[in-house]
Formats: sequence, C-alpha cells, structure tokens
Amino acid sequence: MSFETLGLHEALLRAVKESGYETATEVQAQAIPHGLAGKDLMGSSRTGSGKTAAFILPALQKVLDHRATDTARPRGKNFGPRVLVLAPTRELAQQVAKAAQTYGRYVPGLRICTVLGGMPYPLQIKQLTSSLDILIATPGRLIDHLQSGKAVLENVQMLVLDEADRMLDMGFIDDIKMIAERTPAERQTVMFSATFAGHVGRLAQDLLNDPIRVDV
Ligand code: AMP
Repeated sequence: MSFETLGLHEALLRAVKESGYETATEVQAQAIPHGLAGKDLMGSSRTGSGKTAAFILPALQKVLDHRATDTARPRGKNFGPRVLVLAPTRELAQQVAKAAQTYGRYVPGLRICTVLGGMPYPLQIKQLTSSLDILIATPGRLIDHLQSGKAVLENVQMLVLDEADRMLDMGFIDDIKMIAERTPAERQTVMFSATFAGHVGRLAQDLLNDPIRVDV
C-alpha cells in the first residue's frame, strides 16, 4: 500500500520517500491509520517487518500536531515528553531513536532524548530537564530518573512498549507498571510483543483500552 493514503503529514511523507521506501509494509499499512486516529494497539510482528516506523510515524505526527500549542508554553518549565517509548535494550532503544531522527528530519525543532542504562547520568539529566518531544528509554534507567524527580511524564500522550515480552522476561514488569502510572490515564498506548500470552497479555489488559489487534 502507498504511504500517501495512510493520512501522514507532508513532512513525514517527504522523509519516508527520501528513505527510498516505495510502499508501506503490512504492519505499517494496518497500524498507522489506527495510530493516527489515537487508538490503542497490540501488535505482533517480527523485527524487519517495519514495525518501528509503524509506531514512530504516528508518534511524530502527534508532535507535529502540537507544534502550535508548544509555542504557547511558558519558557523554563519542564513539561516532559509527549511521547514515551520503552524498549528492552540499549541497542533497540538506539535503533528507535535513529528511526525517529530519520523520519522526523522535517519536523521543526524535533527534540529526542534517550535514557539508557550503562550511559552517564549528567547528559541524560540535562536533556530530561530541558524541553523535549520524544523520550526513548530502557525501563530501569528511567525509574532512576523518576525517583530522583528528574523525569516528568505528566504530559505523555502516547506510550509505546516495544518488544514487551522481552522487557518482561528481563524482569521489568514492576518498573513498567510504575512508569505507566506516572503517565496520564487518558494516554494512547501501543504495545508490540512476539506473544500476548500469559503475563504480557495481563499487562496488555492493564494498560490498553479497547485495542486494535495487528498480527502480521
Ligand atoms: P524494523 O522492523 O522496524 O526493525 O525495520 C526493519 C528495516 O526495514 C529497517 O531497516 C527499515 O529502514 C526498513 N523499512 C521500514 N519500512 C520500510 C518500507 N516501507 N519499505 C522498505 N523498507 C522499510
């Protein structure tokens, strides 16, 4: 399916085209229109299927939609990100950040921050306490910043859990619940996971509201 019919903003279509993509992949064609409509989503699709763009393009559109109101925000106050992506590993989080930069290169003044375990704290704190649009984090390190009061999640409108099954296998269940509780209840939530059996399914039930199921 062509990207033009999915409802994406011109700035995003331009970046996608420059990436050389001719058509949307199956998961993108199914997930993007629902993502743009603000629906919760539970998706199962392999790495390599194009799932990163399937959630990050709607996330970037959310940032674009809010650019006008952003300029009315008082300066100096930390509002925190509009979009929060949780990923199990540093490598995956960095891939998501790279995709966000690539597809978001025509989003004016896009501010993306990564908060990853094993990286030094000072730069993360500096970025977390200045204004930002998209925060991409591994759960354990984000909890550290929440406990020290440096991370503000009260304006998160979209929460993405990438590879949720792996995050639970790594023991992040309580961290994820605590993080989700710090975001507004009326947020949009997107979960990708190889399986939704067992504890991942229960987490999905807790976090998602009338979700669309995409399984490709
Ligand atoms: P992912 O499944 O998100 O890890 O993406 C796998 C790879 O597919 C990445 O290198 C993307 O650059 C690429 N990709 C994503 N969407 C498309 C598309 N619509 N057409 C061709 N390649 C794509």
